[in-house]
Amino acid sequence: MKKPSQFDAIVVGAGPSGNAAAYVMARAGLKVLQIERGEYPGSKNVQGAILYAKALEEIIPDFRDDAPLERHIIEQRMWMLDDTSFVGTHIRSDDYNKPPYNRYTIIRAQFDKWFSAKVREAGALLICETTVNHLIMDGDQVVGVQCDREQGDVYADVVILADGVNSTLARKAGFHGEIQAHNVALAVKEILFMPEETIRQRFNIGEEEGVVIEMVGRITDGMMGTGFLYTNKESLTIGVGCMLSDFKRNPNRTSPYVLLEQMKRHPCIAPLIAGGEMKEYCAHLIPEGGFHAIPQVYGNGWMIVGDSGGFVNAAHREGSNLAMTTGRLAAETVIDAKAAGRGYRANALSPYKAALDDSFVMKDLHKYRDMPGILHRNPQFFTTYPDLVANAARTMITVDGVDKTTKKQEVIASFRKGRSLTGLMGDAYKLWRAFR
Ligand SMILES: Cc1cc2nc3c(=O)[nH]c(=O)nc-3n(C[C@H](O)[C@H](O)[C@H](O)COP(=O)(O)OP(=O)(O)OC[C@H]3O[C@@H](n4cnc5c(N)ncnc54)[C@H](O)[C@@H]3O)c2cc1C
Repeated sequence: MKKPSQFDAIVVGAGPSGNAAAYVMARAGLKVLQIERGEYPGSKNVQGAILYAKALEEIIPDFRDDAPLERHIIEQRMWMLDDTSFVGTHIRSDDYNKPPYNRYTIIRAQFDKWFSAKVREAGALLICETTVNHLIMDGDQVVGVQCDREQGDVYADVVILADGVNSTLARKAGFHGEIQAHNVALAVKEILFMPEETIRQRFNIGEEEGVVIEMVGRITDGMMGTGFLYTNKESLTIGVGCMLSDFKRNPNRTSPYVLLEQMKRHPCIAPLIAGGEMKEYCAHLIPEGGFHAIPQVYGNGWMIVGDSGGFVNAAHREGSNLAMTTGRLAAETVIDAKAAGRGYRANALSPYKAALDDSFVMKDLHKYRDMPGILHRNPQFFTTYPDLVANAARTMITVDGVDKTTKKQEVIASFRKGRSLTGLMGDAYKLWRAFR
């Protein structure tokens, strides 16, 4: 028997997607309850973390006034590593040094606390240290949630699932299937503290400026994955993540923390982090299935936002950007449905999917729809090519009395030996398909 709704909406989770949804609805005057299992928002959340300004700007235009931001990014490095070298591109521009800045490093524990304070200021009620165990159904309609507290049943017109990558609630309710090891990456990261001055010297940056290094190659021990190194104010964040299914079948049985330790010892990385004092270590899953792994994201009385719906664009790893945008779009759908008195059946909530399809979220996921599968089926992009490219660069740059034509022939021969002519042509086509 349906009990009367106590809230217009319940939001499960206080990460970026849940905070975005709760904030937008509360600001519009809706009665919103947000439930978070962590001790405080941010206590359970893991991110590199790069914050992309645009998504947050659309929700809180003046966020720069008081959000806890570390450094704005003026330089992005992309490195391909073999065991001893990297070959890379560095994109640095003074255009990125002019406000309003495009992206920032953040510390999630501080950022989520700040965002949550904004949500509460907007009028939402937040309950922490409370886990939602089940969705309450009335027939085929979600009408509330059951929490791990005495008298823990709460009723609302609509429930927004913002409970992160391992969304047990959606699985228990049958909204999507079991998490698949080939659709998620397992990432580990550390925060290493060191004097601000050391960071500025090592990365050639000013007081507020930051550098991002994204890495592929031998650091992932033959598995599909990436590494990263970000500059915060007085710390560096370093991490690496690989597909969970690859960890399972890795012949060296390399564990995630061993992978990170090996990466920290790489001769190109070790000098950058030398002397850093590790104060935080975390591990977390990242949805990497992309477009083909996105489940049904709305139904009768429910919507899914953020990592819970697999909304991470593996090509750019902008999870929080997508999380906040999906949270905002879901919230706007609820606001419109309430204003129109349409009820909260699936047909009333379907504009959410239409808005997603019309946004960069689904457009980008669709653009890179084949990328995760292609890269995963072709480990040579993480092994053979970094070796070949680094070797080619070393061969051409080393001055050793061998003429350049001979060196060029050596390089071509090494590529043909490493991948064969048809292999090279096939790989070029695959890369084109992955990133077209
Ligand atoms: C190592 C790493 C690096 C990353 N780097 C970046 C980056 O640099 N930039 C970027 O944009 N993205 C990055 N991401 C991705 C980004 O962190 C996520 O996409 C983002 O956090 C998703 O936000 P969310 O709100 O959907 O989920 P989450 O942040 O996971 O929040 C979910 C919340 O729900 C709560 N919860 C779960 N179940 C329940 C329940 N049953 N009851 C109550 N509460 C519950 C959890 O405690 C949690 O607080 C990274 C991820 C990882 C792991």
